[in-house]
Amino acid sequence: MQTILTGIRANEEPTIGNFIGAYKTMINLANEHAADSRINMFVPDLHSFTTPIDHDKLYAQVIKGVKYYIAAGLDVNNPNIHVYRQSHVPAHSELAWILDCFTYFGEASRMTQFKEKSEEHADAITVGLFNYPILMAADILLYDAKYIPLGEDQFQHLELARDIATRFNNKFGKEIFTIPAPEREQVKFMHLENGLRIRSLTDPSKKMSKSSTNEKSKISLNDDPEEAAKKIMSATTDSIGKINFDMVNQPGISNLMTIKAMLAGQDIHDVITQYAGLDRYGDLKRDVADVVKSFLTDFQERVAKISDEDVERYLAEGEAYANEVAKAKLAEVQRAVGLIR
Ligand code: ATP
Ligand code: MG
Repeated sequence: MQTILTGIRANEEPTIGNFIGAYKTMINLANEHAADSRINMFVPDLHSFTTPIDHDKLYAQVIKGVKYYIAAGLDVNNPNIHVYRQSHVPAHSELAWILDCFTYFGEASRMTQFKEKSEEHADAITVGLFNYPILMAADILLYDAKYIPLGEDQFQHLELARDIATRFNNKFGKEIFTIPAPEREQVKFMHLENGLRIRSLTDPSKKMSKSSTNEKSKISLNDDPEEAAKKIMSATTDSIGKINFDMVNQPGISNLMTIKAMLAGQDIHDVITQYAGLDRYGDLKRDVADVVKSFLTDFQERVAKISDEDVERYLAEGEAYANEVAKAKLAEVQRAVGLIR
């Protein structure tokens, strides 16, 4: 059975952009493949503080992250779907150290995300931030995962994991690690041809980002539905005065149509046909605002129905499974490098 592994960092409140671009996509994939694959939906909590966070909130955010998986439709009762916290499977940290010693400083230094993030957080560039792609390699290799649905910003890290695994296997002359599929195969697997980017509501030339400090630019999953509807009503559009789906010249309007289609489960072409050529932006906005409002109301109700106890129980089951698999793989590695017989 092949393993599909994916995780979403939960250190800031996710937006509807994350919901549409990450949660929905990954959960659809998980449910689609759960009949014949092992699905590891883990919470990468050790990755949460590679950049500074509020540690008092971390535990609750991790629990909430799992509730979001479930509320977004992850079938946690499927015996092939496992949710677990990285921090509760010590083999991740142990393997990361061993892999550190088989990763060249030069190759790790080429990671462009480190360069970008260290510019953003120039006052606190930690070794953890530098090192995290190697921990990520451990997250993947411990479970022999072949497919790892992830964003474009992670392709370079995936390539690093492949390089480390190949080097390790070659050095010890055994197929200790399964080599994850290369980028083009991952993209095909994710059906990502039409890579979706929800835009900022205040500046539709940019993407919506959860870390934005401009509250009006984004709709967070825990926004008050009424407030969220107001943000849609005041979203930046254009002065063309005709509704067209045109991401280049009318990105604001096109973004609103995309949000409506994605959250209402409509085909984008139907939405385009519905509004094409109309000139009242206010009507479109009101329809999108209604969809956003009812999506948030419904989603938040679903989240509220999931108890912390249930989440802890799912995690305990998932972590028992993950520890068993990860320990066995770690032992293979420890044997190869000469730590055990
Ligand atoms: P940050 O501002 O902290 O970078 P972010 O909103 O960009 O936050 P990430 O944590 O970088 O979120 O990404 C989480 C997942 O959400 C990734 O799979 C990413 O591709 C997806 N994603 C992020 N922003 C959008 C967006 N605007 N539209 C669609 N998908 C998105
Ligand atoms: Mg981002």
